[in-house]
Amino acid sequence: MSVIEGRSPQTGEVLRVETDGDRIVGVRRAETRDASLPWLIPGLIDLQVNGYAGFDVNGADVCAESVIGITHALAAAGVTTWVPTIITASEEAIVASLRAVCAARDADARVAAAVPFAHVEGPFLSDQDGPRGAHDLAQIRPVDADEVARWAAHGPLGYVTVSPHWPGAPEQIARIVASGVRVAVGHAHATPEQIRAAVDAGASLSTHLGNGIFATLPRHPNPIWTQLADDRLTAGFIGDGHHLPADTLTAMVRAKGPGRSFLVSDSVALAGTAPGRYHQPVGGDVELFPDGKLTLASTPFLAGSGVNLAQVVEFTLTRTPLGLPTVVELASGTPARVIGNRSIGRVQAGARADLVLLDADGRVVDVLAQGARP
Ligand SMILES: [Zn+2]
Repeated sequence: MSVIEGRSPQTGEVLRVETDGDRIVGVRRAETRDASLPWLIPGLIDLQVNGYAGFDVNGADVCAESVIGITHALAAAGVTTWVPTIITASEEAIVASLRAVCAARDADARVAAAVPFAHVEGPFLSDQDGPRGAHDLAQIRPVDADEVARWAAHGPLGYVTVSPHWPGAPEQIARIVASGVRVAVGHAHATPEQIRAAVDAGASLSTHLGNGIFATLPRHPNPIWTQLADDRLTAGFIGDGHHLPADTLTAMVRAKGPGRSFLVSDSVALAGTAPGRYHQPVGGDVELFPDGKLTLASTPFLAGSGVNLAQVVEFTLTRTPLGLPTVVELASGTPARVIGNRSIGRVQAGARADLVLLDADGRVVDVLAQGARP
């Protein structure tokens, strides 16, 4: 049994959390308040990770070691649960990534606990420049529930991101949802009507709302308002400080409500590595800046995100007025509910011992992942 102590973000009380193995076995509230103690929050949960610390869940080299490597590197940073995000590629390449996730979960019990399933972001996305983002146009194809069923035979598939502009999208989405795979709206050039039809068919998530969309939109109606307004959609937001300005992130989270919003990093493999210029097999030359900004070299265009969710939390705490209790909801509580796991995203007896201590500036100072220091 071990004990970790810190302040509750909700009440300011000092919490003494007792853990045994990978579980929290008791949470005691001290009578005293001690403002010098760090904040004690649940482990962070990132639903959108393409890569980290040099490892990638995409590409020809993907293997179980990539997924295992990311799991351990993220845990050390305070991200104790994460969802591998597989981008647009051939069916064979998507299956190879899903097999790697499956093999990693089979090989390492800590990975099996930290990685609930994979997210396939593509290939049924917008074929237009802008909303398509960096996804490979040659591999963009119409939404196809049969292909999703073939993927799902090879690895744990939680959700797939779709642009609902495709003809027949509602029928395909309904079939995907009926098979137990959730559908997110994203990288879309769909109309508000097409988005509503997708949600009527069962789509329940928005992928990085506010990004993966045309740079210029009608002021209203437009697909951002439609997704913000529809309570049936829970939305992810890239809180790296570069994809969404702080006031945009603040207003979107307030419109959606923290119970239907979650923060993601959308990190790529270079995140967590040293700043500098790199050559990527997909995407060419890129530059990683010390603040985590990742651009196509010598351009202002973002090439993914170079931060982890702990850095997203720090940014959101220091640059928006949302406040710690809300940020904890966005980075732990809501994503835990999206995953559907009641033993994560909370500090209480019986929950998994995934705990993070944050200093007054929102920086991670200590981590317990599945009851152990990573
Ligand atoms: Zn994306």
